Order: sequence, then C-alpha cells, then structure tokens
Amino acid sequence: MAQVAISNVAKAFGTVKVLHDVSVDIADGQFVVLVGPSGCGKSTLLRMVAGLETISGGTIAIGDRVVNHLPPAKRDIAMVFQNYALYPHKTVEQNMAFALKLRKTDPAVVSERVKHAADILDLNPYLKRYPRQLSGGQRQRVAMGRAIVRNPQVFLFDEPLSNLDAKLRVQMRAEIKELHQRLKTTTIYVTHDQIEAMTMADKIVVMRDGRIEQVGAPLELFDRPANLFVAGFIGSPS
Ligand code: ADP
Ligand code: MG
Repeated sequence: MAQVAISNVAKAFGTVKVLHDVSVDIADGQFVVLVGPSGCGKSTLLRMVAGLETISGGTIAIGDRVVNHLPPAKRDIAMVFQNYALYPHKTVEQNMAFALKLRKTDPAVVSERVKHAADILDLNPYLKRYPRQLSGGQRQRVAMGRAIVRNPQVFLFDEPLSNLDAKLRVQMRAEIKELHQRLKTTTIYVTHDQIEAMTMADKIVVMRDGRIEQVGAPLELFDRPANLFVAGFIGSPS
C-alpha cells in the first residue's frame, strides 16, 4: 500500500484550474521530488497533502486514511517551509518544543525528542540562541528539527533551500539526504531546481501547467525522457 496516494486530484481557485487529474503513489520510506517551473502547481499540491488547501476533486490518502476532510493537525505530517517560519522570540530549543507542547505532550518526551533532534542536526551548541543569532543553514536545521520532533509519518518540504547561497545549498542537500537515510521517513520534496531533484530523489515527478509530464527514477528520466519538455527541463543546468 502507498504511504501517500494522490488519486485524480484537481484544484481550482475560483474558475481557474491549476491542477488537473494528478495521480502519484508514494511508497513508505520513499523520497519523492516534485519538480517543475514556477507556477506549475507544486506548492498547491503539497499544501493539499498538508491540509492547507481544500481539494477540488479526487482523493488524497495518507496511510490507510483518506484525509480530504481532515485538518492539518490530524494528518500525521510535518511541513518545512522555504522561509523557515521560526518564532523570533523563542529560542532554538523552544522553537523545536513548541508544537509538542501545544499537543500537551509529556515534558519528559518533549525534552527527549528535542535532544534527539538536536543531536542528529548538530544543534546542541545553539539551543539557547534566538533565530536572529543563527546563520541561514542553522535556521534551516531548526526548521527541520521542528518537523523531526513531531515524529510524523510524512515530511513535506517546500523549496527549503531556496533562500540559501549556492555553497550552503549543496551542503544542506547532503544533510537532508543523510537525515532521510537515517530516519527513513516518507518525504515529498518540492523544488524548481532540477539538480536538487536529480541528486536527492528516489522518484521524480515532473510537472508542467498543473499536470504530470513524467514520473520515474532520476536516471530513467535522464535516459528516457517522455517528451521534449522533460528532456529540456531535466537535461538543462539550473
Ligand atoms: P509552484 O509552487 O509550482 O510555483 P503554485 O502551486 O504556487 O506553483 O501555483 C500554481 C498556480 O496556482 C499559479 O498559477 C498560482 O498563481 C495559482 N495560485 C496559487 N495559490 C493561489 C491562490 N491562493 N489563489 C489563486 N491562485 C493561486
Ligand atoms: Mg511553490
């Protein structure tokens, strides 16, 4: 059974259709990258999985539950955004603990989970600092820490590296992959960067204008692109 099953999903904002009949199955533990030009509907699709946008047609299932009408907090997902969305007046430790505290998690469990996340993300020296006292890469790690402590079934990333400089992007790509190898959490990762897609994905979903052009492993798309769009998009440097 797919861990995330997106079946014939459509989305319209008013009369404007932005996703048409999109279907993707994501297996347990898989790292799937949604890639395509700006405006093709990647964030909208991810936000529908997260429960941040309503679904105009089709179904989305996580595990064995259709989640179409479940609020975000009941979906067992954690999302990492492009702009980090850290709380400026909370320390690193408090930022990571906050979501669990809201859920009235046992304080011993909270501190154990925060410690585990800080260990794997190398954040121990920074636990008492505030976001403004951190570098871009460290902030991104805190954003990931907040997702990890929730121990979700699925991680959702929306262009998490797009605010970082080129060198840091390469480093953070490797860190996110290492994290995935360690935790094996099913991941949906959105980017418009084909290099990111090629280096990170188990499976790539290439989108254009609200439709899926091709789904496959990185080398499959590179060796056997379904059409000129995929060939041009995957083949060209970013
Ligand atoms: P991507 O993430 O691939 O850049 P988006 O999913 O953000 O693309 O956007 C897909 C399309 O939907 C775009 O044409 C965008 O303008 C439109 N769109 C996104 N959000 C809204 C909204 N809240 N209201 C109206 N149109 C929207
Ligand atoms: Mg987007």
